[in-house]
Amino acid sequence: MPIAVAFAGWERSSGLRCSNAAAARPTTRNRTLRRLNQPLIIVLSGPGGVGKGVLASALVAGDPQLWLSRSWTTRARRPGEAETAYVFVDEAAFNQRVAGGGFVEWAEIAGHLYGTPWPDAPEGSDVLLEIDVQGAVQVRNRHPDALCIFVEAPSAAEQESRLRGRGDSEVHIAERLALSAAERSLARELDAVRVVNDKLDEAVAEIASIIEDARRGPPEGDGGEGG
Ligand code: 5GP
Repeated sequence: MPIAVAFAGWERSSGLRCSNAAAARPTTRNRTLRRLNQPLIIVLSGPGGVGKGVLASALVAGDPQLWLSRSWTTRARRPGEAETAYVFVDEAAFNQRVAGGGFVEWAEIAGHLYGTPWPDAPEGSDVLLEIDVQGAVQVRNRHPDALCIFVEAPSAAEQESRLRGRGDSEVHIAERLALSAAERSLARELDAVRVVNDKLDEAVAEIASIIEDARRGPPEGDGGEGG
């Protein structure tokens, strides 16, 4: 089934700068109702510097059924960053796409805009979104059976060192660290599956196994009413 069909029930909206996590909380039953012939929507979120991008690339490299969405952003490209990391645009172009309902979700993060365009994945693929937790809330609101995974660094010191290692400015590092507590709290509201990215290969294997479990669906006889 084309992804567009699976996403057809998603309500297009102009996105939120401040999300309502309580409204997004799914019931366990909702999450077990995904029809197994429909694409799985996997949302990989987590604070800045925890390694979501590297994890997402490794997951896609190891799983031909996984299709990684490419976001739009108004942030400038970092030195050494691939041109294909995002669709880099100015605010006018971004806002024009928002006005046209062209994003599944979008959010403002540390002064820049980021948005997920409507997916254009090959038939039979599952869709991986590597987005912040505000975006995860919006996706969950529209698609209650999306699999939400929240990645964390093993410690705040390690997160800071990873942010610094990728060349972020000191101001940006301070902003991202300050945001982390609120992001963790939203992830708890979302009931996201928490994965600590200490050793990359172990975190990749753990997430791959979570995705495989979700593809298989709930065990037979599980009506989804349990905790
Ligand atoms: P960075 O500027 O470091 O590449 O990304 C900053 C944050 O924006 C990260 O947490 C990243 O996951 C998030 N992000 C990237 N693309 C999107 C998107 O399309 N929507 C949302 N909501 N967040 C995004």
